[in-house]
Parts: sequence; C-alpha cells; structure tokens
Amino acid sequence: MKTPNSYLSGLPTTIFTIMSQLAVKHGAINLGQGFPDTEGPQDIIDKAAEALQDGRNQYAPLTGLPELREAVASSNRRFYGIDVDPATEVVVTSGATEALAACLMAVVEPGDEVVVIEPLYDTYLPALRLLGAVPRCVRLQPPHWSLPEAELRAAFGPKTKAIMLNSPMNPSGKVFTREELELIATLVQEHDVYAICDEVYEHLTFHVKHIPLMTLPGMRERCMRIGSAGKSFSLTGWKVGYVTAPASLASVVAKAHQVLVFATAPNLQCAVAYGLNKDDDYYLSLSAQMESQRDLLRDGLERLGFQTLPADGSYFIVADISRHAEGRGDVEFARWLIEHAGVATIPVSAFYDPEGAVPPQNLIRFAFCKKPEILREALKRLESALS
Ligand code: PMP
Ligand code: GLN
Repeated sequence: MKTPNSYLSGLPTTIFTIMSQLAVKHGAINLGQGFPDTEGPQDIIDKAAEALQDGRNQYAPLTGLPELREAVASSNRRFYGIDVDPATEVVVTSGATEALAACLMAVVEPGDEVVVIEPLYDTYLPALRLLGAVPRCVRLQPPHWSLPEAELRAAFGPKTKAIMLNSPMNPSGKVFTREELELIATLVQEHDVYAICDEVYEHLTFHVKHIPLMTLPGMRERCMRIGSAGKSFSLTGWKVGYVTAPASLASVVAKAHQVLVFATAPNLQCAVAYGLNKDDDYYLSLSAQMESQRDLLRDGLERLGFQTLPADGSYFIVADISRHAEGRGDVEFARWLIEHAGVATIPVSAFYDPEGAVPPQNLIRFAFCKKPEILREALKRLESALS
C-alpha cells in the first residue's frame, strides 16, 4: 500500500495532550494544557442553550451569523478604534486554530517564506509546512523575551510572504511593545508582505496595553487579526474564532474556510455575539482575576527558587528550572514533576522548531488559568517534592 502523508505521519501527538494524559495517570494538578478550570459566564452558556431551540439549527452563513459579524466589528471599534465592515471584513471560524490555517492558506503558495517568532504555538509550523511554505524562525531571547532586531531583519527577504505574530504570546506571556510592533510594521511594509496576527489573548493583559498590529500606520490593509471566544469567555471547548481583515483578504480567508469547515455552529455563534457585547466591566474583571492568579503563582514559584520570566498577558508564565533541575533538561524535569510532585507543566523546548537549532532546556511553562486554591495546592506539592 502507498504510505499516507509522510509529514503528518511523523508528527508527534501534541505536547498538550501528552502532558494532560500523564497528569490524569499520575493524579497531577494540570498546570500544563491551557484551559480554565471554571466554566465561562453562565449567561453566555444560557444564550447558547436557548439558541439551540430557536429553529436555526441548519448551516450558518459561510462567513458567520450577521449578529456575530456585527459584534466582532463593534468590538474592534470599541477596544481599538478600528472601523470594520461586518459584511465584508469579518470571517467566523471554528476556533482560532482554523482561523490560523485559513489565513495561511489565504496568502501562501508553496516555496513562500513565513517569518515566525519562537517560542511559538504548536500549530504554526505544521500548518505552514503542509502548505509547502518555509518557516524563517526568529528567537526571542530569554530571560526578558527580547526581540532581536538584527535577526528579525535578516529573516525577511525576497521570498517572504507573511509574518505570524502572536501577542499576547503563548507560551512566553510576552505582550509586544509599540516599539517592537513599529519595527515589525516597518519590515512588513518594506518587504510588501502580510501579517497574520494571533491575538487570542487580547483581553488577557495585566497592566499593559495590547496593541493590535493592525492599528499601526499602513497596517490596516496587511493584517489578518484573529480572536477566540474560547479565550475571551473562558469557554475553550467551544472553538469559535473570528478573523478581521480587509475585504480583499477576508474574501480569500472565507474561501479557505469554505474548504476547511464551511460554517460554524450557529447556537455558539449566537452566544458569542452576546458575549462580545458584554460591558467593559466583564473584560476588566476577566483580566483582573487572571492577573491575581498570575501573581499568586509567580510569587509562589519565586519563593520556591524558580526564577520566573516576565509574563504580562495570556494564561501562562515561564520559569527557569536551573536551581532545581540538577542537570536535567526541561522534558525530563517536567516528567519528574508530574510523577514526584503531582504537578503537570509544559517543557518550553516543545515550542521550538524540531528541525531548528537546539532550543533552551531550562524553561517550563505553567498555566495560571486555574482556581486560586488549585494554584496554592500545586505550590504546596512543589514545595514538598523539592525540599
Ligand atoms: N493561538 C494560540 C496562541 C493559542 O494559545 C490557542 C489556544 N490553544 C489558539 C491559537 C487556538 O485557539 P482556539 O482554541 O480558539 O482554536
Ligand atoms: N492553547 C492551549 C495551550 O497552549 C492548548 C490547546 C491544545 O491543547 N491544543 O495550552
């Protein structure tokens, strides 16, 4: 028999699933896979339940329910002052994961280069390689997650078609500054390329401002900005995402969505439209709660001798294991923590190109989107295992 697709056959199961399975096996607290351990807002869930009974259970329109496209457009205006035509500039997708793939499909051809910034989310490289595109990886430099200008400049060239930018960033928790975004915007325009902006953690920043790349001068026409209801409403299982892009690009993203999924569950779309229209207090309390959990975990890890790296947004904080690892690498140490401390984390080396240079071995990622009592219990377990 002929063999199935060789790239996919060789692709390992995602690290999130591996660590979650190990967490279950060892009864560990799961600070690995990034999902909240509380339900999202009850009123949004009620809306989805009601919408199942409203007689609209057949295919939704290709680019999304009008009320959700309206809500995406109005939140672009409310939070960032971006004027968006809901009829032509919004595409609803089945999660940001699909949105990322659809945006890539919309712009790249085989052989095109795509600039990506490591450490990076685990679907970026497989998605672009399956399209025949070639990644040009630039590494942020720990411990401050600084963006190296010379390397970034060098990654752009005549074959570059796009950059994928994730801010607030998973796994680092970095929120790109205006100066960094200005540099990226300059390079994008100099090289006449597109930007795929993964902003799923847009509402999870802690006393720093999230600035969409799309709001910088000259970038409105070049950016595809991706949001996720999973992250904005703590409903990660729903898998509803949305892309905001100029009409000329959105129409091509819609073609990719047509091929991949066609239409996303209408009841969830209805509820997400309702959620996006929640008042500012909702968004403020979401980030305030996440920030206090970040503080709790960060302070506890520091007390235990883990040096933590700056994390101004997302669900995640990265810690340096050097003081405790006794020469073990991040993968081995993360396994040891599951088995001996009963705490699951994610080794940060998993967020680097397996075909690239050796990644850092001294960093692990903790998710703090968990109840404070769970975070305290995890810290207690770490303390007793490490003492
Ligand atoms: N991008 C990043 C950086 C993420 O962390 C996630 C969530 N796991 C996604 C995309 C995917 O989001 P969704 O669950 O909406 O597909
Ligand atoms: N985005 C989540 C994380 O980084 C996991 C998503 C997944 O399991 N695919 O932990």
